Amino acid sequence: MNKTIFQKIIDREIPANILYEDNDIIAIEDINPVAEVHALIIPKKCIPTLNDLDPMDADIVGKMVLVAKNLAKEFKIDESGYRTVFNCNDDGGQTVYHIHLHLIGGRKLNWPPG
Ligand code: 5GP
Repeated sequence: MNKTIFQKIIDREIPANILYEDNDIIAIEDINPVAEVHALIIPKKCIPTLNDLDPMDADIVGKMVLVAKNLAKEFKIDESGYRTVFNCNDDGGQTVYHIHLHLIGGRKLNWPPG
């Protein structure tokens, strides 16, 4: 299987602005931010879509949410508010098939999304 762009970032084959990293997770700035804060929280294990999640992945998904929460505090958007999003497949707007949690904030976000 070809490496995803995120796997190449994890493997340091292409650069990214890294916001957080541990054994299981990397968080980077989105290359095309849609708000003042736009981070991507990515598991090092390549899981293509949310549909591919296994019950054994529950810990990693929980850790991703905790990293998002901590980054929101670091970026001082925890009180003003923010959005966390997993896009899944084409209708969901997924373009990179390696699951990632978007953390978006720093402006008022509309609901429902387009
Ligand atoms: P998706 O549409 O799959 O939910 O989100 C993919 C995200 O990855 C997009 O917001 C896009 O801007 C971001 N992205 C795509 N390629 C790169 C890259 O090479 N570097 C970084 N930092 N972000 C990327």
